Amino acid sequence: MTTQTAESAIAVARQPAPEPGGTALISYVLPVYNEQDGIRHFHEELAKALAGRPEFRYEIVYVNDGSADDSLSILRELAKSDPRVRVVDFARNFGHQIAITAGLDEAKGDAVIIMDTDLQDPPRISLELVDAWRAGAEIVHARRRTRRDTIFKRTTAHAFYRILRSWAEVDIPLDTGDFRLLDRRAADELRRFRERSRFVRGMVASMGFRQTEVRFDRDERFAGETKYPLRKMARLAIDGVTSFSTVPLRLISRLGFLVLALSLAGIVYALAMKIFRPDITVSGWTMLMVVTLFLGGTQMLAIGVLGSYIGRIYSEAQNRPLYIVREVLGHDGD
Ligand code: UDP
Ligand code: MG
Repeated sequence: MTTQTAESAIAVARQPAPEPGGTALISYVLPVYNEQDGIRHFHEELAKALAGRPEFRYEIVYVNDGSADDSLSILRELAKSDPRVRVVDFARNFGHQIAITAGLDEAKGDAVIIMDTDLQDPPRISLELVDAWRAGAEIVHARRRTRRDTIFKRTTAHAFYRILRSWAEVDIPLDTGDFRLLDRRAADELRRFRERSRFVRGMVASMGFRQTEVRFDRDERFAGETKYPLRKMARLAIDGVTSFSTVPLRLISRLGFLVLALSLAGIVYALAMKIFRPDITVSGWTMLMVVTLFLGGTQMLAIGVLGSYIGRIYSEAQNRPLYIVREVLGHDGD
């Protein structure tokens, strides 16, 4: 019985998207965390952009990721005044990647667009993604041609995307955040990825499908400041690497061989000194310090890398729910 329902759900998902002029439903998935100063303006801009494309129906899913400011009451108002809006209110802050996931779970559209709510991802570009989808793409990435963030953010992000690309076992597109469009089939497949330490853009890239990209210039944040401080950025980067690559583990073995080679040289040197120059062998304080600290450091580093993989195994094994929703506000699409 269950299999039957699952099969028919897949059959429904496999139906081709409605033709233009029909009633294709486009869903927006919009994570919100402490965006009280910008969210109203964002919604106006989005509504303006959508008004230029009346040929589609729209569904706007905001996910309030445990905002500590007034974001929720503003979203509540938006849900009252705009029948297209639904708000998924998290019981606490679960993080951007999980908020996107909850939005995907809630969205029902023939195509789902994920974008930030600080106007760094311009709403008009989302319509270009829709055009690429109509032209046959199943996944459309919005790739940043330029970005107006601090130099620090730009250089670290630049380096990160390149390291990840050379290490990862999947082809993760360069300079692409989470701004993208997924058609119904791709969105349904993505929903089956339930890992906890999430790097959504990598999961999307690993799915296959017909993928294309649209280039855009990323704007500055409209209001407020980044919700990705260094700590969260580093966490995301580590999740990205550990979810898609075992290169760090292999690097440990290489480091091990290197250290072993150095150690052998050291051993030969120490024995030679003992045999041939017994008069000065005790005076090796500097050497002892160098060797002890070097070995200690490399071991700690190796254990740290192992630890981050083990941490992932641990949190997967706990198998807790990905997120907890307090309530869903607004009209139900059904
Ligand atoms: N965000 C979220 N939960 C968080 C952090 C961020 O839902 O814990 C949302 C935030 O409201 C924004 C998007 O994720 O819509 C991207 O965050 P931000 O603009 O701060 O990141 P940046 O653009 O600086 O990388
Ligand atoms: Mg931003």
